[in-house]
Amino acid sequence: MPTTGSCLCGAATFTLAETPKHMGACHCGQCRKWSGGVLLSVEVAPDAITISTGETITAFKSSDWGERAFCSACGSSLYFRLTAPGPMQGTYYISAGTLDAGDPALHEELFIDEKPAGYALQGQHKMITGPEFFAMIEEAMKPQS
Ligand SMILES: [Zn+2]
Ligand SMILES: [Zn+2]
Repeated sequence: MPTTGSCLCGAATFTLAETPKHMGACHCGQCRKWSGGVLLSVEVAPDAITISTGETITAFKSSDWGERAFCSACGSSLYFRLTAPGPMQGTYYISAGTLDAGDPALHEELFIDEKPAGYALQGQHKMITGPEFFAMIEEAMKPQS
């Protein structure tokens, strides 16, 4: 089932080919600053999203491997997009809160070693530390032979 999403003011809208079933949480310093707390996001392949109205979408290059897009009219954090070369290039990590429907289950927590002590997410799911995450990224970005 396709689903739609938008920023808070409605100037930026998009459609996902499938309603996401899983989401990840990230506690890294960049995600916390960008989202205002923990970032909850759903992974979407580049060809599985259609931006319907995107005039206000502004992208900020937040690292050598990705950019973060927000609505310049209302400030909503919309998505992180992987820009580094490799098989995952172009993958979107859409802020779960922008989705109009669906209730994705929490699948994993990234940068669990950087999580502030003041809160915890419930349920059984994968926990990945910062060093483990960077090792995974390095592996994923290796050219396929
Ligand atoms: Zn907006
Ligand atoms: Zn993060």
